[in-house]
Amino acid sequence: MACIVFVGNCNFRCSYCHNPCLVFDPESQPLIREDNIYRFLEKRRGRLDGIVISGGEPSLRPRLPEFAARVKSLGFLVKIDTNGSNPGLVREMRGRGCVDALGIDYKAPSFKYNQIAGSNLSDIWERTRSLIQFAAENGIHTDVRTTVHKDMLSQEDLAVMRKELSEMGQEDWTLQQFNPAEILDDKLKEAPTYSDKELMDIARSLGPRTYVRGLRGFFLTGHPSKAQSV
Ligand code: SF4
Repeated sequence: MACIVFVGNCNFRCSYCHNPCLVFDPESQPLIREDNIYRFLEKRRGRLDGIVISGGEPSLRPRLPEFAARVKSLGFLVKIDTNGSNPGLVREMRGRGCVDALGIDYKAPSFKYNQIAGSNLSDIWERTRSLIQFAAENGIHTDVRTTVHKDMLSQEDLAVMRKELSEMGQEDWTLQQFNPAEILDDKLKEAPTYSDKELMDIARSLGPRTYVRGLRGFFLTGHPSKAQSV
């Protein structure tokens, strides 16, 4: 059982982003002071296991390690959701023992990574690759996930991504159903995309450790934790 803290700002511009207010207008969201978060957690010892720090992109915050270390010192687990653009900061946090789990977006095959992420960082795929590889090599519990829209990722693209992830040592991979709610690029809402069944068929064709998460957050195929416990 965890609570989630959302932070503002992001260095990517994914068309399907469903937190555009955090990307473009973080000031529009309520500000929660750090002290209030610590007080909130202190009152929930024994009821909450941990905290997920999500966004936006948390790794853009230079003070993230200090914040996470303080949360850990209160006795809570810490998970960081990241777009993979700042592997150095996450490595530092792991070295300091203040991150227990990761959620890493793997947005596209290497040859179209910048296009899908809306990033002009020339080494963005390489940064993400190095973080996924680091997580796999160090046995960090990691949810590697990809939001899938037909207009952006073909079945051939997904097959390339499956191969790339396996080469990084990452076997568990979750395809997330596109959520048309509030997104960055409204044109995507009009374009046809994969049904749940099509996505499940694609996942099955990619091997037993590729999963599908539906719109309500539940797994539509097997669950990665079952694969890990075998
Ligand atoms: S989906 Fe994530 S990485 Fe992409 S723009 Fe939104 S917050 Fe940033």
